[in-house]
Amino acid sequence: MSIPLLDLQAQYCSIKDEIDAAVMKVIESCHFILGSKVQELEEKVAAFCGAKYGVGVANGTDALILSLEAMGIGAGDEIITTPFTFFATTECISRVGAKPVFVDIDPKTFNLDIDLIEEKINENTRAIMPVHIFGQPVDMDIVMAIAKKHNLKVIEDACQAIGAEFNGKRIGGLGDTGCFSFFPSKNLGCAGDGGMVVTNDKDLAERVHLLRQHGSPKKYHHTILGHNSRLDALQAAILLVKLKYLDSWNDKRRENAYIYSELLKNVDVTTPFEMDNVKHVYHLYIIRTKKRDELEKALREAGISTGIYYPVPLHLQEVYADLGYKWGDLLESEKASKETIALPLYAELEREQIESVVEVVKRAIL
Ligand SMILES: *Cc1c(COP(=O)(O)O)cnc(C)c1O
Repeated sequence: MSIPLLDLQAQYCSIKDEIDAAVMKVIESCHFILGSKVQELEEKVAAFCGAKYGVGVANGTDALILSLEAMGIGAGDEIITTPFTFFATTECISRVGAKPVFVDIDPKTFNLDIDLIEEKINENTRAIMPVHIFGQPVDMDIVMAIAKKHNLKVIEDACQAIGAEFNGKRIGGLGDTGCFSFFPSKNLGCAGDGGMVVTNDKDLAERVHLLRQHGSPKKYHHTILGHNSRLDALQAAILLVKLKYLDSWNDKRRENAYIYSELLKNVDVTTPFEMDNVKHVYHLYIIRTKKRDELEKALREAGISTGIYYPVPLHLQEVYADLGYKWGDLLESEKASKETIALPLYAELEREQIESVVEVVKRAIL
């Protein structure tokens, strides 16, 4: 039996008619860039995460970059974040000329360790960028309290966690900005690249608005240097169909994650830890084992796809050699990079498939 890490085909088949109709409507309208579909999606995604404003952009990376630029963050500024994330998180910080300052992770949640943030704050610190990694929210009460105390901005990298909740509130709307990616494999994915910034701050929303379209408040009038970073109408139309299903898909992901964790209870692997005041949306189902590489091989040979998130923590990436970190500096992140593996997880995954994966895990781990 072959089991993919993620089965986008299964999702598409379940809503094919609706998606096809939505796509054809946009094509027939010949209105492809921004427009009413994008605006409708912006309103709905903002409302979905309890924020006032949403601004569609070209991808999640740009959502982060435009957030930073809208806040006036650039050369000489420091942003505190985690090294255990996708590279885009800190690429954006470096891209605007600022410096990522890494704190180690909590080995249970894989999220940045909130107890280590304050010691890294100095006069150059401008913001904290929590990443809700694998779909589990960072403790936003603590992050926001630290930010308030030190007058820092908070940019949520919410790319892996749309629909997740902290203390009953959806993430994305909790920081100064929340950044989403609609990359196809995310919990809410489009048919290409897409992203969005959400915020409750009118000024920031207006700045991101300007930045995404050449700094142009009015056609051929430019007040600042911007980007071409728009969400297109086809993607918005597809996302509007899918947004209706997001909660039920996230619930199915959670159910499937619990089935795995139950079946793996007596197996010598560490299953995901879920904080009790969150709704984790399991963008990825990550287990930990010292036999990670053997397990990866056994699953591959059985036709089961897995993923390694992330094999090299960001402080040790070649591109960041000049930041001067070395192995041993952020031990928990480094250990996690050697011990974690993602098992197949998506809404349409069947119980029998989960059982097959678990059987292979059991055999490999014994
Ligand atoms: C996917 C992702 C991004 C970037 O999103 P793109 O849409 O691919 O640019 C940023 N941060 C994290 C944590 C992500 O998972």
